Amino acid sequence: MSFRPGALDGLQTSPTGGQVEYLLARNSVIREFRKGRLSRLDVCDAHPELIRAATNLGRPIGDPCPICEESELVEVTFVFGAKLPAGGLCVATQTELGRYWRRKEPVVCYVIEVCSDCRWNHLTRMYPAGAGVDAVARKPMRSRKKS
Ligand SMILES: [Zn+2]
Repeated sequence: MSFRPGALDGLQTSPTGGQVEYLLARNSVIREFRKGRLSRLDVCDAHPELIRAATNLGRPIGDPCPICEESELVEVTFVFGAKLPAGGLCVATQTELGRYWRRKEPVVCYVIEVCSDCRWNHLTRMYPAGAGVDAVARKPMRSRKKS
């Protein structure tokens, strides 16, 4: 449930960035929480580093937190790849993110939604970038245009 960079090794990227899969996983966690089968301790376990990143660099996504229903969720993007820190690099701005997309070396971007109040966190999507990859899952599903 929790986003732990070290645990992501070997994860395969899919062309859609796994958005559907992650959304289903997210919804089932929320459902279990509402039924009382999962406690806040189970679902609100964001790593302090992630909370710090969310507080300083998170981008509001306009949705309320599904758990505490009080705070607005933010998105944090981490980039993993060669010549980057093993724990990934938290991207501060869209401009900076664009630089990683244009890198010669391949990278993988992970987008996590975080509530910095109750510490809810969930992987929203991931996508390959850099190395000339034309990432299809850069944009959130809800704002992606149908073509
Ligand atoms: Zn919350």
